[in-house]
Amino acid sequence: MSSNTGSLSSMLAGKCPQCHKGKVFKHNMWNLFKSSEVHVNCPYCGVKFEQELGFFWGAMYFSYALNVAVSVITGFSMFFFFGDPDLYVYLLVIVPLIIILTPFMLRFSRLLMMYVASSYRKYQPGIPKHP
Ligand SMILES: [Zn+2]
Repeated sequence: MSSNTGSLSSMLAGKCPQCHKGKVFKHNMWNLFKSSEVHVNCPYCGVKFEQELGFFWGAMYFSYALNVAVSVITGFSMFFFFGDPDLYVYLLVIVPLIIILTPFMLRFSRLLMMYVASSYRKYQPGIPKHP
């Protein structure tokens, strides 16, 4: 894992963890039912994205952690800034928020899985195009 800002911006842009050029996802985020579909190979450098069978199942752990973080942060914000409303108000805010964020979370957790928990070669500038 490389911790430079180039990696971070590439991850947030949904780019290949190896070449930082090719797109990871087939569709954009607003294509709700297909937004988390990943290309088999990087369209630019050709690396295989799903490194082993079930590789992206690991993304569920990231997704779970992200959803818990959103719920906790939202809950604390409501408690401290909106005077601890009734329980149903928490639910009316947090549940739709989680649902609305689902396409983003699915993509982001897959990208986290690829950038943080995988064995792609460390980014090497000058990897040849379409090997
Ligand atoms: Zn690539």
